[in-house]
Amino acid sequence: MFLEIIEKISDEIIKNEEYLTELDREIGDGDHGVNLARGFTEIKNQLVNFKDLPVSDVYTKMGMILLTKVGGASGALYGTAFMSAGTFLKGKTEFDNQVLLGTLNSMIEGIQRRGKAVLGEKTMLDTVIPTYDFLKKSFDDGKTLKDIKDEVIEVAKNSMEGTKDIIATKGRASYLGERSIGHIDPGAVSSYLMIKVVCESIFC
Ligand code: ADP
Ligand code: MG
Ligand code: MG
Repeated sequence: MFLEIIEKISDEIIKNEEYLTELDREIGDGDHGVNLARGFTEIKNQLVNFKDLPVSDVYTKMGMILLTKVGGASGALYGTAFMSAGTFLKGKTEFDNQVLLGTLNSMIEGIQRRGKAVLGEKTMLDTVIPTYDFLKKSFDDGKTLKDIKDEVIEVAKNSMEGTKDIIATKGRASYLGERSIGHIDPGAVSSYLMIKVVCESIFC
């Protein structure tokens, strides 16, 4: 199931290549979709080689592919996120709520270590951090992933859309200053698409 989810994420990113690139044309250099589609096409090509690997190694290999194939800010950031999750998952065989939270947290830490951004700077983190916070709170309240998966998608979507109102202070979009307002951040959308696919895939 894990590899199927990766395949679905790859397909979703590839399907949205033009849209992501379009968004990046507004406030960046118009390559976000192209960059990510290149990386996820390679991940799809490599899926057969991932079959017998532990989950941690799959994350690490995905991270390496994203680092080497995607390029740009997002290649380094998503690459580091997946490598960081690979390290966190090393030796783990149970995949419960706490491991899910830990995985997401390690990805956020990887992105922040590399890119030095915090919440509210109009980046992918503005999708991922609120989603993580919502998941954590829901689990603390005793809810299961099954109970809340639609809400998780909703939180990720609203957070992604909320980047429209933020002034970019990191990445290329920051060169635009106030003119970055009114545009959704491309990285926030790619993160949303990944989260959506994971949530939709988990119980079907
Ligand atoms: P580049 O800007 O190098 O062309 P991409 O277009 O592939 O790279 O990716 C741009 C996305 O990367 C942005 O939309 C934003 O979400 C994300 N990003 C840029 N800088 C940072 C950062 N320092 N921290 C987190 N995310 C960032
Ligand atoms: Mg770009
Ligand atoms: Mg670029």
